[in-house]
Amino acid sequence: MKRLNLPEYTSIQSYNLCVASVLDLSLKDRLNSISGFIEQVSETYINLARVGSVHSIPPLIHPRGEDPIVISGVRKSELVKLYGYYMVDRQPGRGLYDLILVAAKEQCPFCGGIGRPKSLDHYLPKANYPQYAVLPQNLVPCCRDCNTEKSNALAAAEDEQAIHPYFDDDKFFSEQWVFATVNPTRPCSLEYFTEPPNDWSDIEKSRALNHFRDFNIGSRYSIQAADELSGLVDLRRGYLANVSAEEFSSYLASVSSSASYFPNHWKKVMYQALAKDSNFCGLPL
Ligand SMILES: [Zn+2]
Repeated sequence: MKRLNLPEYTSIQSYNLCVASVLDLSLKDRLNSISGFIEQVSETYINLARVGSVHSIPPLIHPRGEDPIVISGVRKSELVKLYGYYMVDRQPGRGLYDLILVAAKEQCPFCGGIGRPKSLDHYLPKANYPQYAVLPQNLVPCCRDCNTEKSNALAAAEDEQAIHPYFDDDKFFSEQWVFATVNPTRPCSLEYFTEPPNDWSDIEKSRALNHFRDFNIGSRYSIQAADELSGLVDLRRGYLANVSAEEFSSYLASVSSSASYFPNHWKKVMYQALAKDSNFCGLPL
């Protein structure tokens, strides 16, 4: 939904920062010995992410209770702990964690900024991809609701992948694919839906739709809009009671085209839908 700049730290810079605070010397040696592997698999991740295909990286799947070796005697739990213990809880790893988190500027990229990011989410889950547990480009600032909505189910196909805020095609961020209609209920309400441009491929259209569904964007946008809508109805019935439907529509359209909202922002889409709705512009219910 919302583009984020790619973290500038490389896989190996992040990995070394986290390994730096490991006190167990034998573990530290083993972790250091696989830094070349980490660098190599991270390069693969970045190359595949650029073409929207990280889902093709084979996940680590194992029976419950097992702790398989990922490579060269290093176990899954040791790589997962490198994140939870040495990146989240310890310096110097925590410094990088915070840098990635604040880069979202308080707006969760998955839901288009409805929520404020509270933690980092592993785009490819660390349980199945422990080799990417501390890869900055796999760590996305995420709000609590998105974290809950986003299941850890693995994407089996290209179109099941959430839109990756660091890597995916600009079209997902710069073109409009979320729209709304006004429900003439009392009070009226907004219903959001997806309608990607015709020139998108079927997979791109499907990805947008799946992202919208998986993060429950429609109902979350509607809830945001309901609050705004009641204030707007009061404004129309009060201070703006004497303006014509056309003037009110122009006012709504001007709010919608404000540069401060990205193309699929709930508010931009809301004002756009309201401006086009002659019933609403005439006399809101
Ligand atoms: Zn969110």
